Amino acid sequence: MNQLIPIYIKSMLIILAISVITISLIVKKNNRIRKLQILLHKLKRSFYNLDEQAKLIVKTDLELNKAQEELDKRLHGLEALQKTSRLISTTLDENEIFHRLNQSLMTDLDYEKNLILVYGENKIFYSRVSSGFSEEDVHFIISNIEKDVNLINALINGNTFSSANAPKQRIESITHLFDVEHFVLTPILTQNGFIGIVFVGNRSNAPGITEGDEELISILANQIGQSIENARLFEQVFLSHQSLETKVLDRTKQLESALEEVKNISKTKSEFVSAVSHELRTPLTSIKGYASILMAGKLGEIPDKVKKRLEKINMHSDNLVKLINELLDISRIESGRVEMHLEKTNMLNLIENVQDLLTPQFKNKGVNWVTEADESIPELLIDSSQVERVFINLISNAVKFTPTDGSITVRAKKENEDIQFDISDTGIGISKEDIKRLFDEFYRVDNNINQNVKGTGLGLAVAKKIVEAHGGKIWISSEEGNGTTFHFTIPIQPTNKTES
Ligand code: ADP
Repeated sequence: MNQLIPIYIKSMLIILAISVITISLIVKKNNRIRKLQILLHKLKRSFYNLDEQAKLIVKTDLELNKAQEELDKRLHGLEALQKTSRLISTTLDENEIFHRLNQSLMTDLDYEKNLILVYGENKIFYSRVSSGFSEEDVHFIISNIEKDVNLINALINGNTFSSANAPKQRIESITHLFDVEHFVLTPILTQNGFIGIVFVGNRSNAPGITEGDEELISILANQIGQSIENARLFEQVFLSHQSLETKVLDRTKQLESALEEVKNISKTKSEFVSAVSHELRTPLTSIKGYASILMAGKLGEIPDKVKKRLEKINMHSDNLVKLINELLDISRIESGRVEMHLEKTNMLNLIENVQDLLTPQFKNKGVNWVTEADESIPELLIDSSQVERVFINLISNAVKFTPTDGSITVRAKKENEDIQFDISDTGIGISKEDIKRLFDEFYRVDNNINQNVKGTGLGLAVAKKIVEAHGGKIWISSEEGNGTTFHFTIPIQPTNKTES
């Protein structure tokens, strides 16, 4: 059979088989190549993606670094601002504020050029803080700013300019004027308005200005404004306090010398009253004596008509003696010439004595007496005859000015360190105007009762002197038509006044 198949066919079959095998191998390889190509493509895409991501990471990292830097800068700026603010807010001296600012701006705020201009008198700028500028630069800047009405108006309106966000033309003019590349220019404002500017700037090779710087310098300018305002207010208060003190001193001196003068006049008056009273007393005693002799008929019988006149002479002489004695008392108590005979006195007994003494008056007028005294009040060291005079005077007045059926109440109670006595009546009362003058010597209210009943207007003045000589106080509460209360106190422990 083998011989039947010719050799060429065998060869061809072999070749065919080999071809088939080869072709199938090639097809397989191609398939693998295609697969590999797909894989390669995928790989490439992954690489591309990775590359993109790496780029993104690098970009983000850069941005983060930048943000971090910006944050660090802001933090540093804020710390510097806090420090500067603390420094300038702890002094109330304007010069000291700028002195501290000068140091702090240069050491803490890291700008190459700093300038603070503040209005002096007549709205002329003065440089208060300057670094990075010569004197000529500052003069040049001041004269240019003062001429730039638009800039001044914008600053007055509270506008801040910076190289980061000002209009181009403005940036150019400011960078040119201050010879910087980056800057912040902000107004100093107070309650009274615009008073100056704060400028900070850097040259071209230094770091630029961000919005953070702008904010920072604006806050600093506000702080400066506030500190200056406080310092000026303090100075004003201090100056007015000083002038007030001088005025008070002057006034005190004037008052002291006026008081001295009043004391001298009062002394002269007392001496005069005392001398005149003495001089009057002697002839008055004679008049009274002769009148009595005549009335007694010792010089012969006298007709009734004459007797009546003599009685009048006697009565008027008595009034005059009373007046003279009261005048003498006042001047004596005033000059301390009345000796107080102090003795421990039971005040309830003293009030009872006065009641006994005045009972006829009460009966005549038809007025009731009420005593409301605290039984436990201690004995007081007083001149009882003098204090009795006070009671008699106040109660007699109360009877005089209280209508029939009225009542008079005498109270005694402990009030802190004093015993307080109140004499209340249901009488005509006293107006506010009269109350003010009632303790003045010779002062009498102009009313019907006073027109009919004679009086000296000295009783209350004497009472006041006696109470004060005992270290006490006397005052009145009254309402017209609604009765009157006279209050007076006497200290439980005698004061120096009474002891001397
Ligand atoms: P005099 O009684 O001699 O007038 P005083 O100094 O004792 O002098 O009193 C001064 C004036 O005070 C009296 O004239 C009277 O007008 C007024 N006065 C005093 N006590 C009373 C009172 N209890 N009620 C109303 N007026 C009074």
